[in-house]
Amino acid sequence: SGVVVGLRFGDRFRVRRTHLPRAHVLPPEPGHAVFPASAEPRLSLCAFPASWLRTRNPLRYTDPSALMPLSTMKRVLLKLSGEVLMGDQQFGIDSAFVAELANEVKAAKETGLEICLVIGGGNIFRGMAGAAQGMDRAQADYMGMLATVMNALAMQNALEQLGVPTRVQSAIEMDKVCEPVIRRRAERHLEKGRIVIFAAGVGAPYFTTDSGAALRAAEMKCDALLKGTSVDGVYDTDPKKNSDAVRFDTVSYGKVLADNLKVMDASAVALCRDNQIPIVVFSIRDKGNLARVLSGAGTQTIVQDQ
Ligand code: UDP
Repeated sequence: SGVVVGLRFGDRFRVRRTHLPRAHVLPPEPGHAVFPASAEPRLSLCAFPASWLRTRNPLRYTDPSALMPLSTMKRVLLKLSGEVLMGDQQFGIDSAFVAELANEVKAAKETGLEICLVIGGGNIFRGMAGAAQGMDRAQADYMGMLATVMNALAMQNALEQLGVPTRVQSAIEMDKVCEPVIRRRAERHLEKGRIVIFAAGVGAPYFTTDSGAALRAAEMKCDALLKGTSVDGVYDTDPKKNSDAVRFDTVSYGKVLADNLKVMDASAVALCRDNQIPIVVFSIRDKGNLARVLSGAGTQTIVQDQ
């Protein structure tokens, strides 16, 4: 039910507003050949059933590569949630699955990309979960940060077994196992063809590794933040709970924040917005998807100004 109202400019059509609760605004570039072109009138107000538009799924008509050419990126930050390291387990690290992930990262690096990695810790410990059980939140968050260091070491091990040189830099100093975060040193590692794995998020409680990823993406001047997770993009509602959920091909930072869409925490999204870093959300569980996303052929949602 509902109608979508748009303005037609000559042979182009721009959807301006929808009465549907899930309001998607089409980017106004040419190529949305969904609507019949008509010479006259030059400007007209049109209405058509929203159900028709929905069946055509306008989001699929957007060519994300036209907005952000993924294939021209030089340096990216890849954020992997801790839960993807679990594979099919309920907890912890599945070494076989980490090896598969490392293979994907290696393939991406072999395209010539410089890669910074940030890995979450949710497969081992989350501060919020500890706090829910009565722990002091800050104490629990430090435990969560230590979990990210364990994951970083697991990924370093898997990458080095494939012959990919890496360095781990932790925001909580622990010089027996890894380097501290030193930006210039990280730059040098990247120049030398190493992957830099940033561990322990921002190094402070009340944050998440998403914020750590946004921070490192900004300071390392990455062209994009790629968030590899267990869903293939950003949806208007939770796709695990609602089979009608619609995935965005692109969505603005403002909409993500205003509608509280589940992408990353708000501080991470705001940091990316302020530094104009596109966030590319994709499923890292689909084999080969990282390479497809980087070549512009994958399924993902790109969060950026539109
Ligand atoms: N954490 C933190 N500060 C940071 C990064 C992480 O306190 O800068 C803690 C926080 O408790 C968080 C846990 O580390 O729950 C694991 O990180 P996160 O939940 O971001 O992992 P993911 O969901 O990506 O697996």
